[in-house]
Order: sequence, then C-alpha cells, then structure tokens
Amino acid sequence: MRKQTLETLRFDNTYARLPESFYAKQNPTPFTSPPYFIHANRSAIELIDLDHGECSRPEFAALFGGSMLAPGMDPLAMLYSGHQFGVYVPQLGDGRAILLGEVRNERGQKWDLHLKGAGMTPFSRDGDGRAVLRSTIREYLCCEAMDALGIPTTRALCLVGSDDKIYREQTEPGAMLVRMAPSHVRFGTFEVFYYRKQYENLKVLADFVIGQHFAAIHVAADKYARFFHEVVERTAKLIARWQAVGWAHGVLNTDNMSILGLTLDYGPYGFMDAYDAGFICNHSDHNGRYAFNQQPFIGLWNLSCLAQALLPLVAKEELKSALDHYTPLYEGEYAALMRAKLGLTQQRPEDEVLIQGLLQLMQDSHADYTIVFRELAAFSSAPGAVNGRLREHFINGEMFDHWAAQYAERLRSEESRDEERLTRMNRTNPAIVLRNYLAQQAIDKAHRKDFTEIDRLYRLLQDPFTDRPEMSGYTASPPNWGKHLSVSCSS
Ligand code: AMP
Ligand code: MG
Repeated sequence: MRKQTLETLRFDNTYARLPESFYAKQNPTPFTSPPYFIHANRSAIELIDLDHGECSRPEFAALFGGSMLAPGMDPLAMLYSGHQFGVYVPQLGDGRAILLGEVRNERGQKWDLHLKGAGMTPFSRDGDGRAVLRSTIREYLCCEAMDALGIPTTRALCLVGSDDKIYREQTEPGAMLVRMAPSHVRFGTFEVFYYRKQYENLKVLADFVIGQHFAAIHVAADKYARFFHEVVERTAKLIARWQAVGWAHGVLNTDNMSILGLTLDYGPYGFMDAYDAGFICNHSDHNGRYAFNQQPFIGLWNLSCLAQALLPLVAKEELKSALDHYTPLYEGEYAALMRAKLGLTQQRPEDEVLIQGLLQLMQDSHADYTIVFRELAAFSSAPGAVNGRLREHFINGEMFDHWAAQYAERLRSEESRDEERLTRMNRTNPAIVLRNYLAQQAIDKAHRKDFTEIDRLYRLLQDPFTDRPEMSGYTASPPNWGKHLSVSCSS
C-alpha cells in the first residue's frame, strides 16, 4: 500500500455538497497557545493510509489541532436536533466539533474526520466550543478499547493538546481529538428535518446516507423501509454487545445515536467494576434514565423517535413491523453473547436461568463483572470440583456451589472440554477493560504533561484478551479512591 504524507493526503467533503440548511460552514478556531502532539493511534492512521512517521512533524499537530487546513477540506458544523432525556430539543448541532472533511483510503473506505473541541460554531448555544483534556483522553482510549473488543464504534486518530485553560467546575487544560467514522449522521439529523417539516431535506439525507453506507439496498423500491430495518438491526446488535461487556453509555439521547449503529459520543460512560444491573455511570442522570439495565429499552425508545421522523418516507405499518423486530433480535443477540461468555456451544431452553443465576450471584456479592468472567474460563467441570478461586468472589458460598453444580452438569452434558473451553473463553472475556480509575490515572499524569500512561493503556487495550506481564496492575478492581469517581456531561 502506498503511504501518504500530510501533503499527499487527499481530502474531500461530500457532506458540504448537501443543501446549505444541513450545516454551517465553520473553520476551527485555533488555541491561543501552540498546539502540541499528545498521541496518535497507529491503527486509525493506517485506516487513512497515512505514513506513521508523519505524526512527529509539527504540521501534524497543526493540521489536527485546528490551526491549519489542508486542500479539499471544507470544514463545517453539522446540524441536528434530538431527544435529550426524553424531551425534544429543536436544535442541537455540532457545538464543539467540526467536520474537517473526509478521506477515502485505497480500499475505497470513506472516513470522516471530525475535530472535537475545535471552538465555537453557530450551534454552540452557551458552550465555549472546547473540550477538556480529561474528556478527550477518555474518548480516545475508550473508542479504541471498544474496537478491540469487537464493538462497533467511532475511532480516534489523535490527541492534540494546548496550554489554553478551559473553564468547567474548575480550570482545566484543553485538547482536541480527531474522531473518525464513515459517517457522523445521528438519529437527530433525521429528526431535525422532520420536526421542521422539511420533508424534501429528509429525503435528501436518507438518499445520501443510503447511497454512501447501505449500498446493497440503494436501488430497492422500498429502500427507506429497508434502511430503517437495517438501523434497527444494527442498534439491537450494538446494545447487546454493550450489555454483554458491561458497558454503559451514560447519555443515550437520540443525538448521540449513530445511524450506522456505532458507539458514538463518549462522555460519562463507564465499564462496570462490581456488577450492578442498575449501574448509573452519569453523575447527572439523577433518575437513572440511562442506567445500564435500561439501555436495551432506551435503544427501542430512540428507534421509535427515528421511526417517527421517517414517517414522511415510510408507511407506518412498515416502521412498526421493523420496531417489533427489535426486542426478539436484541434478546437473541444478547443470549448468544452471554452463552459465549459462559463457554457454552449449544443453545438450550435453560440457558437464561443459568445466565441470570450467575448475574444474580454477582449482584448479591458486588462481584467484579470482568474478573469473574475472566476467571470463569478456568472453571473445572469435573464432578466434585470445588473451583475455590472463583468461589471467593461470592459472599454466599453455598449459593455459588449450587449454581456451579448446574453449570458443571451443563458443560458435561455438551461434552465441553475444560482446556479447549478455556482458550475459547479467553478470546471472548477480556482481561482488561478501561475502568474509570485506569483512565483517571492517565488523566492525572497527563495533567502533569506526562503522556506515558495514555500510551501504556492504549497498547494494553488494543489487545484485551492476551494475558501478558505488562498487564499486571491493570486488571484489578478499583482501589477505594477509584470506586466512585464522578463523571458527568460537563466535559
Ligand atoms: P453531548 O452531551 O456531548 O452529546 O452534547 C450535547 C450538545 O451540546 C451537542 O450539540 C454538543 O455539540 C453541545 N456541546 C457540548 N459541550 C459543548 C461545549 N463545550 N461547547 C459548545 N457546545 C457543546
Ligand atoms: Mg452528543
């Protein structure tokens, strides 16, 4: 493959050729102090065919830190609206992110480059258009962690810092993050045209998205209905993956829902430490609307909002039938993922009892979700085996023994071999996830201009399944200080 330099990288912006009401043209506002390079993501750099050596050039931080533009870029802030905490907000839009342009790689894949924290736009409302270093580090590391876990997500190209101060609850350093996705179109991008009764724009948007990303249905007579079906399917599968890995988004407003079924807009998200079905990761979510166990339902709720916005294009019955598909699809996906986490190869009616039984034990004992599943791989299915190490995670040993006996019997009945299952389960249940306290350690060091911890975590999270010496100290449940770190939307 031919590697590109910053000069030969070719930018375009097809979104900028849509009607003017879709966006506001807006260049990034550079920081007042010079931008400096913090980290670049090798895997994402490869996606745009850029030579990795380019990262060390000052032009790299300038280009991806908002102080330089490249030919072909046509920066703009995208318009959208959305339902926030259940309430329709007629106008949101990119208030602090700017779509710089897109790059098409040699394999023909299109990547939108979105610069987050790039300054005010006409959609900034009361915000300053900036992002704090803390939140960009959290997004940068988490989307790569999710990708390595096989969860569809936006990606991150690089982090660029500045000595400019940003005002939040306290003063914090600012940074910019280049986010990459084939498209940043959200459910809310459709909603805004529906509620403004701009049905022609709605159709233009649907055609644009289908043409670029749903090529297989592009010429179908019922393409809009099939498009919605596809979005329902991707969303159900996405949320099933979040649930299986124990991850909560925190702000599942419709403006944070990707039309491609990607995890989008990392804010106060959280991987669970101790298992708690009602886990609320967002400190500002007082009623738990976006609690962990609400996510599957919220996915459906958000899809219903999208369905409503598509009413001018698709018959109501069609939309309803697609929505009806959501719950069985989600449940099937989730059950399959959980069976894999338990190392089961067959599907049986009693699976749900077995899965729920383990989750209930974990809930009662505040057992660590990631650690328990990782250790479950070493479970011995031999009759009479005690599985003492695993047993220690549970307060009520007898209850665990009861469950373990059922599990062992089930494994034997499908002739599961302990050795083979261990290898398989270790490819499914990660050893490391981006716990809040790990991210916080990287943030604290970064505030002292030491970016080594970002790099260390980045490398570990790129391969979360392989135990290796460098992982020691990164797989444990949080120390006391890291148990209840407060994360909210103000980032
Ligand atoms: P979020 O909760 O991050 O999904 O953001 C919701 C809306 O607020 C979006 O329209 C964002 O662009 C906007 N927003 C969030 N933070 C800022 C900020 N610091 N400056 C301007 N707009 C912001
Ligand atoms: Mg958002």
